[in-house]
Amino acid sequence: MTARMHQYDGELVDLVFKYMRDRLQYDPVPLDHPGDGEVLRGALDGLLNERGNDPAQVLKLYDHELSRAVISCDSPRYLSFVPCAPTKAALLFDMIVSCASLQGISWLEAAGAIAAENQVLRLIADRAGLPKTAGGVFVSGGSAANLSALVVARDTARRRLGAGPGARLRIAVSDQTHSSVTNTLNIIGVEKLLVRTENHRLTGAALRAALEADPDPSSVIGVVATAGTTNAGIVDDLAGIAEVAEEYRLWFHVDGAYGGAGLFAPTVRAKYAGVERADSFVVDPHKWLFAPFDCAALLYREPRLAKAVHTQDASYLDVLHVEGEEWNPTDYAYHLTRRARGLPLWFSLAVHGVGAYTEAIETGLRLARETAELIRADERLELVRDPELSAVVFRRRGWAAEDYHAWSRRLLADQTGFVTPTGWEGETVARFAFLHPGTTLEMVREILATMG
Ligand SMILES: *Cc1c(COP(=O)(O)O)cnc(C)c1O
Repeated sequence: MTARMHQYDGELVDLVFKYMRDRLQYDPVPLDHPGDGEVLRGALDGLLNERGNDPAQVLKLYDHELSRAVISCDSPRYLSFVPCAPTKAALLFDMIVSCASLQGISWLEAAGAIAAENQVLRLIADRAGLPKTAGGVFVSGGSAANLSALVVARDTARRRLGAGPGARLRIAVSDQTHSSVTNTLNIIGVEKLLVRTENHRLTGAALRAALEADPDPSSVIGVVATAGTTNAGIVDDLAGIAEVAEEYRLWFHVDGAYGGAGLFAPTVRAKYAGVERADSFVVDPHKWLFAPFDCAALLYREPRLAKAVHTQDASYLDVLHVEGEEWNPTDYAYHLTRRARGLPLWFSLAVHGVGAYTEAIETGLRLARETAELIRADERLELVRDPELSAVVFRRRGWAAEDYHAWSRRLLADQTGFVTPTGWEGETVARFAFLHPGTTLEMVREILATMG
C-alpha cells in the first residue's frame, strides 16, 4: 500500500477526473440539503481503518452521502450570506495549484507563482487607484486579511507613539463593521471606538464628531470603513473618512471583502471614491471576483510597514531574506506556509479578460435593481432600502420572524432557493445576495411568489 501511495495510478486518476468532469458540468448546480449528524456519522463509520478501502467505494460515499449534505453555494439558487460562483477556468487551475504542489511562500522557492499573483494584486491596486508602491498578498479570507492589516495598523501606531504593549489603543468602527473585525480587535488587544452611522453608513462627519466628543482621542489609531456592508451592500463615505483619517493620523483600512469587486463595475465605481487613500484594502475574490475558496486579496499602501511587522524571524528562514529577493508573500500577513491561492484568479483573468469580469459583476448589480423593481411593484412586499450593490433587503408585510424562518426552510426543502432571513434594526426581514451570473429574474419571481 505504502509504495503505491505516491505512484501514478491511472484508475484512480480516471475515477477522480470523471467525477470532476461531471461536477463541472452540473447545470444548474443543485442546491442539496442540510445534513443529519447521525446519518453522516453512520455513513463514515469504520472508514479510516488500517487497510484502506476501494477508492471507487470511497468516492461513491462522498458523492451520495457527503456531497448531498452540503448546500452548494455555487448554485444559482443559493442567495444567502455571500454566494460563490467560481469560473470554470479558475476551478480547473485550482486543481493545477494542487497537482503541482504550488506554494507561495518566498521568491526563492516560487518566483513564477508569485510573479503571477502579484500581477493580479497590481490589477486590483490599479482599479482602487493605490500608488505604484502598493503591494500585498493573497490570504485565506477577509477575516485573515483584516487581522493581518490591523496588526500592522496597531504596531505602526505603537512605534510612532512610542507606546508600550500595555498602552490603550482604539480603532474606530461602525455598527455595520463585519464581525471579523470585532474578532480581530479582541485578538490584538485593541478597543473599539463605535461611531454612529447615518442610515447604516459610516461617514467622515460622524467619525469627526465621535473624535471631537471623545475624552481620549489620541488613543484612536485607526478606522475601518466597509465598502459594501455584508448585510445590505452599503459603501461607507470613503472620501470623507479618508479626510478625517489623515487629519487625525489614523490608519485607514477599507474592508471590501464582499463589495470590493464593485471597483470593476462602472455603474457603481463612483461609490468607492476615496478608496485610493486607504492604508490597507481587502477584497475577497472568492466572493464576487469568481475565484474558488479560499482567496482574499490584501493590499497595503506601504508594504514595508507590513513587512516590518509580519516577517518571521528564525534561523532556518534567514536564507529567504537575502538581498535581491523581490517579494516574499509570507512577509505580508501572519502566516508562513501558504497556497498560491491567487493563481486560479490569475489564470481565469488571463483567459477571459477583465471585461468579462466587469460584465459578470454588472449582471449581479442589474439583477438586484430588477428585483428591487419587482418588490416595489408588489403590494405584499416592501424594500427596507434601495439596493446599492447586489444585496436586496426587504420585508413581507405582516410577517413575523417565525414566518420568515418557516418560509426559508420550505424554499430549501423544495429546492426553490436558499434564502435565509436577516436582521434589520431588530426586525427579521428577507435578504437576497446576488452574485451568480446564472441566477435569473425568473428564479427571483418564483421565490417571491412563494411569499403567500
Ligand atoms: C465576508 C466578509 C468578511 C470575512 O471574509 P471571510 O473571507 O469570510 O473571512 C469580512 N468583511 C466583510 C465586509 C465581508 O463581507
